[in-house]
Amino acid sequence: MPSTTNERACAAAASQPMIEARGIHKTFGRVPVLRNVSLTVGQGEVVALIGPSGSGKSTFLRCLNHLETIDRGFIAIEGEALAQTDAAGNCTYVSEAEVRRICRKTGMVFQHFNLFPHLTVLENLIEAPMVVRGMARDEAIARAEVLLDKVGLRAKRDNYPARLSGGQKQRVAIARALAMEPDIMLFDEPTSALDPELTGEVLRTMRALAQERMTMLVVTHEMGFAREVAHTVAFMDQGELLETRPAAEFFGSPGHERSRAFLNHML
Ligand code: ADP
Ligand code: MG
Repeated sequence: MPSTTNERACAAAASQPMIEARGIHKTFGRVPVLRNVSLTVGQGEVVALIGPSGSGKSTFLRCLNHLETIDRGFIAIEGEALAQTDAAGNCTYVSEAEVRRICRKTGMVFQHFNLFPHLTVLENLIEAPMVVRGMARDEAIARAEVLLDKVGLRAKRDNYPARLSGGQKQRVAIARALAMEPDIMLFDEPTSALDPELTGEVLRTMRALAQERMTMLVVTHEMGFAREVAHTVAFMDQGELLETRPAAEFFGSPGHERSRAFLNHML
C-alpha cells in the first residue's frame, strides 16, 4: 500500500482516470468562464479545487455532470467519453440516455443542500434509488438506514429538513448522493453556507468518505481540509486552471504568483 499522500496521488494517477477533462472551454453569453481547463482525477484521489469567487469552479464542476454543457473540449468519466470535440472545433455529446447513464457515476453535493423540503430525511434518501434505479422500497429503506448511520443521523430519519440544522441537512445531502452509489463525489462548497461551528461535522463526514477511498473533487475554501485531506490541489483563477499539484507541495510553496496571493489571503 502506498503510504504517503504523495505516493497515493501517484498511484491514483497511474490507474484509469475517474475524471478526465481536457481543454474545456465554456462561455456564458460572450463572457469566457472556462478557458482551456484540463484536470484528471484518479481512483480514490481527493482533489481540492480552490480559487477566488467567480473563477469558474462551480461551472467546471457542473460541466462534469452535465448540469452545464461545454463549448469545446473533452470529458470522460471512468474512461467513457461524455463530450468530445473534433478537429474543426465541433463539440458533440453522446446520446441523452448515455449522458444520463454516465452522469449517474457521479454524485453531487451543493452549497445550499437542495433537499426536498416536502419529504422526510428518509424519503429524501429513497426517492432517487426508487424512481431512477427502480429499487424496491424495502431495499431502498434498508440501504438508506445504513447511510444515515454512517452520517450519524439515523435518529432524524422521520424529520423534515426544516427541523434540521445546516450541518445535519448537509450530512443528509451527502447520504442522499451516496444512496445512488456513485463512484465519484463532487462537492461544491459544501460548508460555505454553514455557521462555523457546524462545518466540522460535515468535514468529518467528508474525511471519512476520503478514508474509504471515495474519489472526490471538492470545491472548498476550507484550506485546513484541503491541506489535510486532499491529495491534490487544483487552483483556478479567472477561468483558468493555473496549477495542479500534490497538496503538500502546493501548500509548501505554491508555484504560481496568483496561487501565492490567494493563499496569503486565505491563511
Ligand atoms: P466560482 O464557483 O468559482 O465562484 P462560477 O463558476 O460560479 O465561479 O462563475 C464563473 C463566472 O461565470 C462568474 O463570472 C459568474 O458570474 C459566471 N456565471 C456562472 N453561472 C452563470 C450563468 N448561468 N449565466 C451567466 N453567467 C454565469
Ligand atoms: Mg461557486
